[in-house]
Amino acid sequence: MRIAIIGAGPAGLSLAYFLKGLKNYEVTVYESMPEPGIKPCAWGLITGIEDILPIPKEAIISEIKNFRIYHNNKLIYDIRTNSKLGYIIDKPLFLKKLAEKLDVQFNSKVVSKNDKYFVNDKILEADKVIMATGHYSVDKSMTIPAIQYITDYEIDKEVVEFYFYSGLLGYAWIFPDREGAKIGIGGYAEILELKERVKQILKGRIKMFHGARVTDYGVIEERLNGNYVGEALGTVYAITGEGIRPSIISSKILADSIINNKDFKREFKKSKLYWTLNWHAKIIKMAKERDPSTTKLSKILINNDPQLVLKFAIGDFNRLDLLKMFGRSFI
Ligand SMILES: Cc1cc2nc3c(=O)[nH]c(=O)nc-3n(C[C@H](O)[C@H](O)[C@H](O)COP(=O)(O)OP(=O)(O)OC[C@H]3O[C@@H](n4cnc5c(N)ncnc54)[C@H](O)[C@@H]3O)c2cc1C
Repeated sequence: MRIAIIGAGPAGLSLAYFLKGLKNYEVTVYESMPEPGIKPCAWGLITGIEDILPIPKEAIISEIKNFRIYHNNKLIYDIRTNSKLGYIIDKPLFLKKLAEKLDVQFNSKVVSKNDKYFVNDKILEADKVIMATGHYSVDKSMTIPAIQYITDYEIDKEVVEFYFYSGLLGYAWIFPDREGAKIGIGGYAEILELKERVKQILKGRIKMFHGARVTDYGVIEERLNGNYVGEALGTVYAITGEGIRPSIISSKILADSIINNKDFKREFKKSKLYWTLNWHAKIIKMAKERDPSTTKLSKILINNDPQLVLKFAIGDFNRLDLLKMFGRSFI
């Protein structure tokens, strides 16, 4: 069986990796860009994923042990731990190392015309086509904008900072980079407003500015047919915008379903990933509907035990945690 995976982001490449070496399967990844990892991203990765997908040492920029939370630019929490909460990875290098082990065709944009797929004007020969095309194939109404400055501001490499604001559903961040920092913001606002807010925390000399959209909709149910994976399926935690880890987990579920000849939709719906993605999306939806000023959600995130907020942010929560954090009225 010839499988064509469209998109060499974390979802597409990890799917090809999980399917690698299988008898009777020929897997090719098609990527429109000349190299992987060009899409804007802050390169934060929560621990745990290395259990299913190796992260080469040289692609780890730093291990995150501490985080700081600010509200209206005032420091609220400065959490220092001895444990590794996550990594800042060199995402392009991580993806490049993964791609080296796989059959990946770069400069290969895939388009569909009359129920057929074409790559660089030639028919794409495949028995199954899987879209790992990220937010590019998600309707704009299901996404929010995120922008980022890359600067030479030196921040402690073990720290990530999050900035919440009254009146903004979203947050800004300062993440360490190999040299300097990534200073960005994403949320339910016009780009101009996001730019104004992030300017207040901008430090260092600007080396680059870029932006992209992030899916905040939750799982796109009609795409649970085994032909979509990663952000194209909606696998981004809506509250945090974390998409790398959930996208890789979605690929693992799809690969296992293909290998074991199981129904992907059933397997996905049984997963903790599905449950967590849905709660993130549900809470964002409720916040938008019930409290457009977003004050309540910001207050909940800021006034709760930071360890509980962290558990929620990284997707490691259960029903009891939800009740503790949001109370019966909000849920
Ligand atoms: C500013 C910003 C900061 C972020 N920071 C983080 C973070 O710190 N941590 C985190 O976990 N997540 C973060 N995210 C989200 C994360 O980047 C994505 O959710 C994640 O990369 C999704 O992986 P994916 O493989 O599904 O899609 P993508 O990474 O978007 O990959 C899709 C690939 O498909 C290719 N493609 C699209 N259409 C075609 C086509 N027709 N033919 C061929 N190729 C095609 C694209 O070029 C791209 O390479 C951030 C997002 C933004 C915008």
